Amino acid sequence: MVKREKVEIEVEIPAKKLYVKHASCPNGHLLCDESVKIHGYPSIKVKVKYQGQEGWLYLDPVYGSYDNIEKDITLPPGAVVEFFCPECGVSLKDPDETCQLCSSPLFVFQLPKGGIVEGCLKKGCMYHKMKIVDAEQQIARLFEDSTLESYL
Ligand SMILES: [Zn+2]
Ligand SMILES: [Zn+2]
Repeated sequence: MVKREKVEIEVEIPAKKLYVKHASCPNGHLLCDESVKIHGYPSIKVKVKYQGQEGWLYLDPVYGSYDNIEKDITLPPGAVVEFFCPECGVSLKDPDETCQLCSSPLFVFQLPKGGIVEGCLKKGCMYHKMKIVDAEQQIARLFEDSTLESYL
């Protein structure tokens, strides 16, 4: 048995209570765009590709809300798209997992302190999840503070 030094917890978060502030690509580029706000918060900007077309998607940063804005591209309902970092072009597709609801690929954004938020790349699919991976002590503290604020 290999001793695991990290634990992973999955947090059930009530929809629309929190918003994602510090999503970044695997290379550390912040995806948040102050110039386009959704529900009053900076959106999460990604380059989107669908059937040879390219455009931009401003994602609703409110966890569990889906008022995304499409720019230079029109995606039909059910379109399965690809996300890329606007800064370095790295794919934001989750290499390991697929959607539990529709089996489409997932996107994954990095959060501060080792967490991730993932969601389905099919337009209209509501699947999304946040995972916080961290040292046990920090997780304990997380529940003590009863705030997830600093992880977003
Ligand atoms: Zn990047
Ligand atoms: Zn899905």
